[in-house]
Amino acid sequence: MQALTVGPLATNCYLLWAPETREALVVDPGAEPENILMVVEHLGLRVTRIVNTHGHADHIGANAALKRRTQARLLIHAADAPLLLDPEANLSLDAGWPIVSPGADETLHAGQTLLLGKTPLAVLGTPGHSPGSICLWGNGCLFSGDTLFAGSVGRTDLRGGDTRALFESLRTRILPLPPETRVYPGHGPVSDLATELRDNPFLAEGGPYGGA
Ligand SMILES: [Zn+2]
Ligand SMILES: [Zn+2]
Repeated sequence: MQALTVGPLATNCYLLWAPETREALVVDPGAEPENILMVVEHLGLRVTRIVNTHGHADHIGANAALKRRTQARLLIHAADAPLLLDPEANLSLDAGWPIVSPGADETLHAGQTLLLGKTPLAVLGTPGHSPGSICLWGNGCLFSGDTLFAGSVGRTDLRGGDTRALFESLRTRILPLPPETRVYPGHGPVSDLATELRDNPFLAEGGPYGGA
């Protein structure tokens, strides 16, 4: 796994690959396609899939360039697929920099498993920050998008956000994961679930979402 931080909102883009084949999956190429491609080339990877944890502009901005250069297939949850094509819905219009991504080649659904080489990656349906937000979980790692951050959780005041849904997602999809799970969020530093269960005010016992 290799992480890069890209774009004005410091989005974490992750490269995951199968060591045997160098086949790679890019999570959230939010911006700076040239930098992402440079790392891809440096590591000798063959990108076959792009997965967006959700459809906000800061997570999809380099989809187009990456697809053009690698012919990768683009995967996103069905509920966020319309955001790819709609700068108003993906929040880029308000930022004055309208982003239109290519459409999804494949829509994801909760409970599905992606295989990267021999490693299964579970698609956890975690609506709340956006209707089609997902997390990827596999090999002891959680790629949590804008659902869970070190010390915080995703905001729900944006278009399509739903605080109750985020609450349910955290309670039913994230809290049951093994505490040693490494957490790789869409923004900010890496963490692990045990630390978040202890220190994250949203997850810790007595917090608004913890112990509920
Ligand atoms: Zn977002
Ligand atoms: Zn974001």
